[in-house]
Amino acid sequence: MVVQPRIRSFICLTAHPEGCAENVRQQIRYVNGKGAIENGPKNVLVVGCSTGYGLASRIAASFGCGAGTVGVAFEKPSDKGRTASPGWYNNVAFHDEVKKAGIPVATVNGDAFSDEVKQETIQAIKATLPGGKVDQVIYSLASPRRTDPKTGETYKATLKPIGQPFENKNLNTDKQNVDIVSLEPASDEEISGTIKVMGGEDWELWMEALAEAGVLEEGVQTIAYSYIGPEVTWPIYTNGTIGTAKKDLGRAAKAITEKLSGLCGTAHVSVNKAVVTQASSAIPVVPLYISILFKIMKAAGNHEGCIEQMDRLYRDFLTSDAPPPPDEEGRIRLDDYEMLPDIQQAVAGNWIRINTDTLSEFADFDAYQSEFLRLFGFGIDGVDYDADVEVDLPLPS
Ligand code: NAD
Repeated sequence: MVVQPRIRSFICLTAHPEGCAENVRQQIRYVNGKGAIENGPKNVLVVGCSTGYGLASRIAASFGCGAGTVGVAFEKPSDKGRTASPGWYNNVAFHDEVKKAGIPVATVNGDAFSDEVKQETIQAIKATLPGGKVDQVIYSLASPRRTDPKTGETYKATLKPIGQPFENKNLNTDKQNVDIVSLEPASDEEISGTIKVMGGEDWELWMEALAEAGVLEEGVQTIAYSYIGPEVTWPIYTNGTIGTAKKDLGRAAKAITEKLSGLCGTAHVSVNKAVVTQASSAIPVVPLYISILFKIMKAAGNHEGCIEQMDRLYRDFLTSDAPPPPDEEGRIRLDDYEMLPDIQQAVAGNWIRINTDTLSEFADFDAYQSEFLRLFGFGIDGVDYDADVEVDLPLPS
């Protein structure tokens, strides 16, 4: 069938299989173009492997370091003539490309929060990866809900401020205008629910399950992704429900490092740059900030997307003899360029001046929109969007 984008607010209901595949191949070409990464991991588990930062990590691990990977994602296959979710097509394309390169691969599609998927993943590690163990675990989940496997209770993540209401400029991507978003503070239940979903508890459960099953190499390293960003987004991000959940990753990192001491394992949080992904496009205020940031970072020549960030994570931070120092809380700061004082001052200046009339002057909305469409495989050079495509693609085993 011919697949066109069908956008509803911050989600696109369709995905283009060929466009998604080309997007994956472009990321692979980026990493290949930078050359092999020495001293990288050999066998990697990526939890949240199908889109955004998880997919880019998996590509950097396999094509930069030559690592075999087991990935976990929760994606929808094509059903009754509907297209699959973009992450499904990304996984299919990733499998095709790594197989051509002769690199071991397996993907488990299911709810990463469940005990069943953790056990299925352990079996996949044993069956697929040389030695049946991993020396690196990337935790890159972004989910709106989580069912606690012990109690069966389902928790929801909320994107709200804490303590006080919040009002600020916001990008209405449907109407292409700058309006005002007002949010009431989260209740205690909403705060604790968000910590349950996006905090460190599930990361700890993953590491416990993997350790118990004996599939972690001596010296294993695990990394979870976080975000801090500028003051303008703090009430809704860093000091809001989601930021409170992210702070819990710091607690979890310490607890995991302690539990892995017998294996000399370590857990770290990496603070990454703001990029357009399905997760970030759902956060109020963030798309406007990203549109301004892109304009400024492109002009400064230090703009990065997911693959540039993850390639730099492996090349400069994880495998280098002289990696940039961590921050005072021991976190990797991949958001170093985003947080440069010059960049942030310029963002703050544009933030004050921006409104619907000045949107294109102070922000790169076109770039935001085209990056958003690319997430779903649209607007990618070399793809014939008028051609019939097969949408029902099985995930290769
Ligand atoms: P994304 O939406 O692109 O990816 C989320 C991934 O999680 C997908 O692979 C999806 O399949 C998987 N997933 C979701 N629920 C799942 C479940 N129940 N079981 C299995 N898999 C599930 O998100 P992203 O923006 O790449 O975010 C990944 C991490 O990076 C998050 O922790 C996020 O906070 C962090 N981060 C994002 C940004 C940003 O600007 N996007 C910046 C810094 C840090």
